[in-house]
Amino acid sequence: MTGDRGRAAHHDVVVVGGGNAGISLAARLLRDGVRDVAVIESRSVHRYRPLLNYVGGGETTMSALERPAERVLPDGCTAVRDEVVSVDPGGPSVLTASGRRIGATTLVVCPGLDEDWDATPGLREAYAAGWAASTFDDGTAAAVWPALRGLRSGRVVFTVPPEPAPCGATALKPLLMACDHWGRAGVLAGLEVHLVLPGPAPLGLPGPDARLEGTLAAYGVEVHREARVAAMGDHGVTLRTPAGERVLGDVAFAHVVPHYRAPRWVVDGGLAGAHPAGLVDIDPLTLRHRRLGAVWSLGDVADVRTRPSGGALRKQVAVLAANIGAARSGGPMQEYDGYTVMPITTSRRRLMLVEVDREGRPQPSVPFVDLVRPRALTWWVDRYALPQVYWRRILRGRV
Ligand SMILES: Cc1cc2nc3c(=O)[nH]c(=O)nc-3n(C[C@H](O)[C@H](O)[C@H](O)COP(=O)(O)OP(=O)(O)OC[C@H]3O[C@@H](n4cnc5c(N)ncnc54)[C@H](O)[C@@H]3O)c2cc1C
Repeated sequence: MTGDRGRAAHHDVVVVGGGNAGISLAARLLRDGVRDVAVIESRSVHRYRPLLNYVGGGETTMSALERPAERVLPDGCTAVRDEVVSVDPGGPSVLTASGRRIGATTLVVCPGLDEDWDATPGLREAYAAGWAASTFDDGTAAAVWPALRGLRSGRVVFTVPPEPAPCGATALKPLLMACDHWGRAGVLAGLEVHLVLPGPAPLGLPGPDARLEGTLAAYGVEVHREARVAAMGDHGVTLRTPAGERVLGDVAFAHVVPHYRAPRWVVDGGLAGAHPAGLVDIDPLTLRHRRLGAVWSLGDVADVRTRPSGGALRKQVAVLAANIGAARSGGPMQEYDGYTVMPITTSRRRLMLVEVDREGRPQPSVPFVDLVRPRALTWWVDRYALPQVYWRRILRGRV
């Protein structure tokens, strides 16, 4: 890793965002022989975000999923600790908060999604007041389990965020782990548990949904379908449902996940297309920008026409790295089939793994085993094995 302290610079490949997508891609490109790769990352801490839901289930701590950002940068990469504030897609180049203009032969945009706080009025205030929190919010994730663990009675509300969201279906994890805990503690019957779903079913996939609906019914969860949290305040959650508004008052605790959109500079810089959340307008097969040949995108911010997830990146990184090379050599491009994952704990020790392509067709990574059936082994892999694979192989561009 080398630093880039000049006021103006140019690199062969500039990657904006050193998250799961950016670090994995930079490592892969360097392994493929690209010599001049720079990663611009604004934060000093890198997080393995799938473990956040296990923080919310009382299974681990924030420190277990964090590493200093500079430690995850691949050898040979130029590190730029700065925040991109605007993009000139024609150059292409980016401008950072400290005033640096950084040009690129190839620009890869992967800053993830921003919270759309305006979409849920009162959410931030509810977080600050302590009666709401979310595993999707770094600042309050650690407060989720202490709030849920001791509940004996009262009303609790959970939500699944609408797409696009970072592996939004995993918002079911804290709900189902908490229900299992309350059941074992003998207090579930005294709790009124609500789940707010953006669609008519948990995932919109008939097979996995049938299993999840059975689990939710067994825990006695009241499900609000095609619903949104319209507002929050004073321990009240206002739902907007097809039947009209409904206010859930006297809420003891609300696990409400923010809605998401692309960062403003992505939209203002002309990188977005027609997607209402401002996602980067790429060809979802090749991951190259539809109008700007030197610009590529992957990860949560890219309009890949499939549900965002870290698991999806394993394939996106391979396709994008190959296609940058193909674009330069004039070779054939590879295509991303929209593979994505939804790992959901149905209890504290069992997990169902849903893997599908862009059309929702099953794409199991292990043949002849029904991974959608909740299993203890799949839970163990998600909880213990995958974090190790992430730090040692995925971030090094080896998966
Ligand atoms: C609670 C939770 C649970 C999850 N569970 C799972 C799971 O079980 N399985 C799974 O596959 N996926 C899961 N995911 C999703 C997975 O973490 C994301 O899909 C993945 O992190 C996306 O990677 P990314 O690099 O696109 O975005 P991010 O990981 O968000 O990284 C983006 C990076 O860009 C940086 N950045 C942003 N803006 C700028 C800027 N202007 N300038 C410079 N840097 C910038 C950010 O600091 C960040 O480091 C989960 C996510 C969350 C939040």
